[in-house]
Amino acid sequence: MKTCISCKIAKSTKSFTPKKSRFDPSCKPCRAVQAKKYRKENRDQILLRKRQMYAKNPTKYKLSVSKYVKNNPNMVKAFNAIRHKRVRNQTLHLFSEGIKIFYRERPKGMHVDHIIPLNGKNVSGLHVPWNLQYLTPRENSKKSNKWSQNE
Ligand SMILES: [Zn+2]
Repeated sequence: MKTCISCKIAKSTKSFTPKKSRFDPSCKPCRAVQAKKYRKENRDQILLRKRQMYAKNPTKYKLSVSKYVKNNPNMVKAFNAIRHKRVRNQTLHLFSEGIKIFYRERPKGMHVDHIIPLNGKNVSGLHVPWNLQYLTPRENSKKSNKWSQNE
């Protein structure tokens, strides 16, 4: 048994990482917490060091990445899915911001119109900033007549 200097709990030596002739003074769970805290507090420094290591020996890192990709296809798939989802969400967020601004900046008395109607018979427009325009109420009613004639 050995007492961890961090949590002061006596644990079997299995809970400690062997270091040369002795054991780590902190148990594995405490080490994990410390490592997490360290990574959080020294994020920039760690990234910089990683980049320097990579610059020194890019082939080694590329090899380890391709090995990881080969051995963990499901993890890679999951990472990609997360990335795609994030990109998609950001895009939608940017669109909705643009749309909000378009409506907010609407001149008095003007209508916001979809250049290509959202539910046209032959074409279907998108609710995106570049499919919006300002029309006077008169132009707007003329346009909806035109579209209804076409349909
Ligand atoms: Zn501990």
